[in-house]
Amino acid sequence: MVTGLKPTGRLTIGNYLGAVRPTLDLAADPAHETLVFVADLHAMTVDHDPQALRERTREVAATVLACGLHPRATLFAQSAVGAHTELAYLLECTAAYGEMTRMIQFKEKSAGHRSVRLSLLTYPALMAADVLLYRADAVPVGDDQRQHMELTRSLAQRFNARYGPVFVVPESLTPASAARVRDLRDPASKMGKSSVSTEGTVHVLDDPVRIAATVRRAVTDLDPVLSYDPDLRPGVANLAELLGSLTGRTPQAALVGLRGGGGLKAAVTEALVETLRPVRARYGDLTADPATLDAALATGAQRAAALAAPTLAAARTAIGLAG
Ligand code: AMP
Repeated sequence: MVTGLKPTGRLTIGNYLGAVRPTLDLAADPAHETLVFVADLHAMTVDHDPQALRERTREVAATVLACGLHPRATLFAQSAVGAHTELAYLLECTAAYGEMTRMIQFKEKSAGHRSVRLSLLTYPALMAADVLLYRADAVPVGDDQRQHMELTRSLAQRFNARYGPVFVVPESLTPASAARVRDLRDPASKMGKSSVSTEGTVHVLDDPVRIAATVRRAVTDLDPVLSYDPDLRPGVANLAELLGSLTGRTPQAALVGLRGGGGLKAAVTEALVETLRPVRARYGDLTADPATLDAALATGAQRAAALAAPTLAAARTAIGLAG
């Protein structure tokens, strides 16, 4: 099982519910080999600041540990394992230009820009490499990664059919609820860590005062009788999904007993504060002790490299490289 998080900003509650929490559950189960990487290479497909990239890579890694990642899991920075970029090139030689230009995220992120980095077009091949290197069967991702995961599956199947059975064709593991947490101020948009405005974003490391302020500003409506209707009441539905996911219930069940937008916001705030309180505390401990994070990342990179090496070697041989 493998999953990655881009260090383009602080982790949001969307990252937590969509990808991190499902990963924690799998990592705690000894039947799974779990790899979590900070996708620093994916953070360079748009304009970036080198110093900020370095700092955020460590921050995201520390946040994942603070969320409670089991020590058995392998945590590493993607760029520390060279096999990712090496396999990505072999997969670029498997992919077609047309299918890359059809990626929704490429279209969205390139629209209106006169100059975009070539890596914005090619990074889905790197993402396929991230997953295929470890012969992962399961990839916990939010809904926004559905199309990239389909591409990963196609590339694996195409490579296997053309050159021999090297890759495992992976399945996405998308949570039933909160697979797409929306911006609290703009429920039509995904909550993103690099969104221009952070007014509608709850970050995993936010303190209770900030959480309460962000939730208070959430868009709801004036109907005191709450109901779950994503089309007609998107703001209420988003909060209901958030509350349901945080408290282990369906969105409909989470609304039972609550009255009006105010009642719903109070319940959401309480659930967020309770869920995130221990994470903030552990994060504080980890930042006070940078050597622990360094050691975890170094051990993780070594282990990931060892796991990746046989797949890369098999792919190189299959595709016809002699060296
Ligand atoms: P990224 O922020 O693009 O690095 O995404 C890291 C992981 O979090 C991926 O699995 C995404 O699918 C997931 N994710 C990002 N934003 C959200 C969101 N708003 N709701 C649910 N999952 C999300």
